[in-house]
Amino acid sequence: MSSRNKRDYYDVLGLGKDASESDIKLAYRRLAKKLHPDMNKTDPKAKEKFIELQEAYEVLSDPNKRRNYDQFGFSGVQVDMSDFFSGGIPGIDELFRSIFGGGGFGGFDDIFGGFTSSRGRRAAPRRQVGQDIEDRIELTFEEAMFGIKKDVYIERYIPCSDCEGSGAQDPSSVKSCPDCQGSGRMRKMTRSGFGTIIRETECYNCNGTGEVITKKCKTCNGKKAIPEKKKIHVDIPAGIDNGVHLKVQGAGHIPSTKAIPGDLYLKIRIIQNKNFIRRGNDLYTKANIDIVTAILGGKINVPTLDHKNKTIAEKELTIPPGTQFGTEFRIKNRGASYLRGKGKGDQYVIANIIIPNNLSDEQIKLLEKYRELDQDQS
Ligand SMILES: [Zn+2]
Ligand SMILES: [Zn+2]
Repeated sequence: MSSRNKRDYYDVLGLGKDASESDIKLAYRRLAKKLHPDMNKTDPKAKEKFIELQEAYEVLSDPNKRRNYDQFGFSGVQVDMSDFFSGGIPGIDELFRSIFGGGGFGGFDDIFGGFTSSRGRRAAPRRQVGQDIEDRIELTFEEAMFGIKKDVYIERYIPCSDCEGSGAQDPSSVKSCPDCQGSGRMRKMTRSGFGTIIRETECYNCNGTGEVITKKCKTCNGKKAIPEKKKIHVDIPAGIDNGVHLKVQGAGHIPSTKAIPGDLYLKIRIIQNKNFIRRGNDLYTKANIDIVTAILGGKINVPTLDHKNKTIAEKELTIPPGTQFGTEFRIKNRGASYLRGKGKGDQYVIANIIIPNNLSDEQIKLLEKYRELDQDQS
């Protein structure tokens, strides 16, 4: 692919240039699970997108390559994915293991938490990963600023309880797959101009499990999993921003008892508040100031975040004499909370000076008098 047609690596991962290492890992993991050809059978371009993702991750996860890329763009980094995928695209768990560390899901768990050594470190080589669920959640401005606990309802697959996720009516109806002799893998030969290519793929008969079921469980009809409607309790942190994905670990699909559960990603949509515009963690408020207060100084009330009482309250602001249109007044620590670490952004109040256009005769006379004085002065 020529670099001209390539998508920016940050765009591929859906991240900004200031993304942290863990943002990159998280975005990669989420997209890899969505685009991996084993998981995505519907999008004909999944494979292409997956390779694109892999390349973006290869560069941005490596501090040296990332620095070169930030500085010089595509010409600063040489990445050849054809080498990586010369033997076909590995299974997703295999891939994650090679990327996130050799100790099973070790390196990976340290980042994302959740799976303890007793559960998964020594897992079978092909451990299934449940699909993620993506949903969206709408918050008011106040909910986003002060945080809130919400219940969301999801539909997901969990292992069938009647057959304990085996899909079989009883243990004796689980047999070794005759097509692959229980290995789960098949060798496929393709003839091309370059000769014969032998490629190992998943067995179609057993989907790589190495097992077939002679009598299916009646509850799940051999599918091993059944749908479940579940209420998930989500703790939304104060300061969450519009458009981010909030991850709820393990709340995704669970295709089998041995599988690693997928995660739930809630895309946050925040309803705009007419009084506040957010930029990063700072908030901007426009304050109307009458012309006399702007000239002589005075006090006005502005809406501001009362973090302590989790509400929006009016705060008195002193306007100094001679305040110009567009002057910014900073109110410290009245912005959005930082999601990482303590602290808050600031609020900026921008002076919007109102020029009156409905003056009384008396007011006009006074202003004309003012003009005379002003001309005498100069
Ligand atoms: Zn088989
Ligand atoms: Zn069942």
